[in-house]
Amino acid sequence: MFAWLRKRRRERLVQTRPISADAWRRTTERLVILDGLNQEECSRLRQLTTIFINEKQFELTQGLTLDESQKVLLAVQACLPVLELGLDCYNGWNTLILTPGEFLESEPEIDGYLRKDEAGPLGGEVLELGPVILSWTDVEDSGLGRGYNVVIHEMAHKLDLENGAYDGAPLLETIDPQVWKTVLSSAFEDFRRKVERLGHRAERVLRLDPYAASDPAEFFAVLSETFFERPDHLYGDYPGVYGLFKLFYRQDTLARFQKRRKK
Ligand SMILES: [Zn+2]
Repeated sequence: MFAWLRKRRRERLVQTRPISADAWRRTTERLVILDGLNQEECSRLRQLTTIFINEKQFELTQGLTLDESQKVLLAVQACLPVLELGLDCYNGWNTLILTPGEFLESEPEIDGYLRKDEAGPLGGEVLELGPVILSWTDVEDSGLGRGYNVVIHEMAHKLDLENGAYDGAPLLETIDPQVWKTVLSSAFEDFRRKVERLGHRAERVLRLDPYAASDPAEFFAVLSETFFERPDHLYGDYPGVYGLFKLFYRQDTLARFQKRRKK
């Protein structure tokens, strides 16, 4: 679609199909990770969320149903990472497949979509040129400031894939790719060594999810979750990575974190 046409269409959507005040209030009350956004940012986020809900297809499987508030809960978390980058970052894909709970690769509804390098029950998954698959229970556990966020995780994979490579390096417009590579690689190696050394104790001892040690793409996705959920942990463990994420996402989540309500 021509960019100007898309822009006009989106402006119309915001006017004609707004999210109800009630659904918006309930969602923002629930999601601690939205604390600290100013009024202008909140209103832009609400517009992006409206467009996201109307442009993306939600495929609900296994009898799952979602009301408006639930769709907003998912969409607002998908839009938060691109609040300053813009929704065009998500133009390359269209569909979200929702399952009620964690899913297995072999489930018939989604068989054939999943990459084969994952094993065990999944909370979310991204297909390189296709849909995002999310478990609803995992979506409900996201955004509460506890460090876990399946929606942001999968959106980070989509941002990573925007330049065609699944390598933990998204499109870097204002950041020197060499600097990104040096800082991220050295943090990844450090984290991988820690996880190896700690073995089964890693999950209990570390503040970052040991799953990040899987590969550079997972490192970027998991640390993106931490950047929005617990920026204090990311800053505390890898301040250089925090600094680069702040430049990439163009958001200062640590400053927002200081304004967070205590839960
Ligand atoms: Zn992942």
